[in-house]
Amino acid sequence: MGGVSRLLVVSGPSGVGKGTLLRRVVAECGLPLTMSVSATTRKPRPGEVDGEHYYFLSPAEFETKRQGGEFLECFEVFGTGTWYGTLRKTVEDGLAAGHWVVLEIDVKGAKKVKEQFPDAMMIFIEPKSLDVLQERLQGRGTETEDAMQRRLATAIGELQHAGEFEYRIVNDDLDRAVREFISLLCR
Ligand code: 5GP
Repeated sequence: MGGVSRLLVVSGPSGVGKGTLLRRVVAECGLPLTMSVSATTRKPRPGEVDGEHYYFLSPAEFETKRQGGEFLECFEVFGTGTWYGTLRKTVEDGLAAGHWVVLEIDVKGAKKVKEQFPDAMMIFIEPKSLDVLQERLQGRGTETEDAMQRRLATAIGELQHAGEFEYRIVNDDLDRAVREFISLLCR
């Protein structure tokens, strides 16, 4: 499989540690993995950089791109008017450059991508339990109680779709999860 570009779709509930896990995988796997930068209408969190973590767009900018068909998939996540979307050009350019493009997106977006790229490798990251996930979301302290509750409700819904993914990794031990992820890519 070496030398061939691939599309990887990674989903899992908010707070499961996808970001940390993926940063380690990208740094340690020795493959030309590149994280696709999504667009969002959510406000940046402290430390988040435009064009690096997300393209932070106004609702009007996002809508213009949506109407123009620039998204491979886009969804209003958490039912609050916050949009997230994968830019078609980012994915196409990455694949054309021979990269392994990684999308970290919600399960609805994942399904949409799989319809358009049937060969995409679908990976679901799971928490050890819902209690652990709740603790992590609370510990992160980046959300209001209300937003946290919505994320938890969304997480419960997302976990029900885990069985639709080709591969599932439980992120209870980061080192083990990183090894498991890399071994999936290398087989
Ligand atoms: P956060 O606000 O914590 O950065 O991301 C919230 C959720 O939005 C994550 O679970 C992530 O998977 C999802 N997400 C991020 N970017 C995209 C995207 O481009 N498309 C879709 N469908 N979901 C996304």
